[in-house]
Amino acid sequence: MRRQWCLFAQWQVQAAMDSLSVRHIISATATHQGSPRRRDQASPIQRKGIHTQTGRLCFPVLSKKSDFQEKDTDTRLSQSKQRDRSSSSSSEIAMSSTAGQVIKCKAAVAWEAGKPLVIEEVEVAPPQANEVRVKILFTSLCHTDVYFWEAKGQTPLFPRIFGHEAGGIVESVGEGVTDLKLGDHVLPVFTGECKECRHCKSEESNMCDLLRINTDRGVMLNDGKTRFSINGKPIYHFVGTSTFSEYTVIHVGCLAKINPAAPLDKVCVLSCGISTGLGATLNVAKPKKGQSVAVFGLGAVGLAAAEGARIAGASRIIGVDLNPARFEEAKKFGVTEFVNPKDHDKPVQEVLAEMTDGGVDRAVECTGSIQAMISAFECVHDGWGVAVLVGVPSKDDAFKTHPMNLLNERTLKGTFFGNYKPRTDIPGVVEKYMNKELELEKFITHSVPFSEINKAFDLMLHGKSIRCIITMGA
Ligand code: NAD
Ligand code: ZN
Repeated sequence: MRRQWCLFAQWQVQAAMDSLSVRHIISATATHQGSPRRRDQASPIQRKGIHTQTGRLCFPVLSKKSDFQEKDTDTRLSQSKQRDRSSSSSSEIAMSSTAGQVIKCKAAVAWEAGKPLVIEEVEVAPPQANEVRVKILFTSLCHTDVYFWEAKGQTPLFPRIFGHEAGGIVESVGEGVTDLKLGDHVLPVFTGECKECRHCKSEESNMCDLLRINTDRGVMLNDGKTRFSINGKPIYHFVGTSTFSEYTVIHVGCLAKINPAAPLDKVCVLSCGISTGLGATLNVAKPKKGQSVAVFGLGAVGLAAAEGARIAGASRIIGVDLNPARFEEAKKFGVTEFVNPKDHDKPVQEVLAEMTDGGVDRAVECTGSIQAMISAFECVHDGWGVAVLVGVPSKDDAFKTHPMNLLNERTLKGTFFGNYKPRTDIPGVVEKYMNKELELEKFITHSVPFSEINKAFDLMLHGKSIRCIITMGA
């Protein structure tokens, strides 16, 4: 098996570099904040391409935390089917009769950068070793799909099937797949967890060596080929998920097996942006009950960070955005105060410090603006403040702050996918929704049938949607 050593590929290479130096700073200077949980601790510098594991992977069964009692799976499955008409018995028959065969189904194909997607009949080959073929029931649109579809500033890779936030059901599994089976409910994740590499074995990291996001790769790892074709012409994959297709083939390490009772039309949004923001607050910033949290950027990721602050019991959640139109929506997410940097003559970090008697306890940056990143760090209180960077900066950005800001016991961290390990942790995030601890409905502002997928792009491009659910087969 050929090893791929990309970091975040083009859009994230620089971000990764920045994060490397940020982690370097942290390990040298950060003061650890209270909780003994190992994943909170400053990580050592992440190494690129050092690990040389090759050959077949072995996937142990899921841990108790993420494995569900099999005895009541059937009941849950039928409850779920009542709730979700798309998972009808016809799909189950199709699943059992199609294993090992090529499936013809509909997919939204991007033939060219920035041109509307075209619903085509595609052939989807059976899964190979360590792969799973999944029937997608619901998918949603994220900025990353739009960014790569526009293909501005990157090497374009077309024709391609985009999509990476989704929920589906396993149709068939390839050789060596032992912990997923026909009928399992899964969320595809753009970055994987092989469970074998140093990152996967570390409690501190979720940056799997084998399955870390690679936006340049349009083929499967196993044989370097695509599983999608139209009349023999290969159609490329996107981040190993390609969920804008009724059936798709995904590496088993990029699939989180979830509670089959969870409604896939809601929990599908946990595949990417919402988990990223939520985890940035809950896993990395870790506000204590009653503390203040500033969230920079009130897009989907920032609103999810605010949701994390609400769940953690923050006393004040201060939203910072340049776009005042975001403030009204953000009230639903428990944001209590709003600051628009444009309304002030002084740097926003000074405004926040004045509002909070010296600085906020935690800040989570979800903008991608280097200025906001610096402000987010400099607005945290000395002695205990923690700032977490989530946004992906531009290629030439450099993070500049006076080292005294670190010496004065402020901590700066960065996070990728909210520090969640996709297979180990995402099933637990789904349970937070099932327990009504986490609210997902408020993120879902629109829905469209698959045949109108281009409308979802329009809504996002015009800033009208947080998340638009696309119903497959409709
Ligand atoms: P979005 O565009 O919907 O929201 C960003 C918000 O930031 C906007 O409301 C914008 O007005 C605001 N903003 C921009 N510059 C600002 C500034 N200087 N000060 C205050 N507000 C400012 O984006 P999103 O989908 O919510 O994603 C947010 C960021 O997170 C992006 O950079 C995205 O690439 C990144 N991201 C990172 C990860 C990760 O794993 N680290 C994962 C997904 C997304
Ligand atoms: Zn791994």
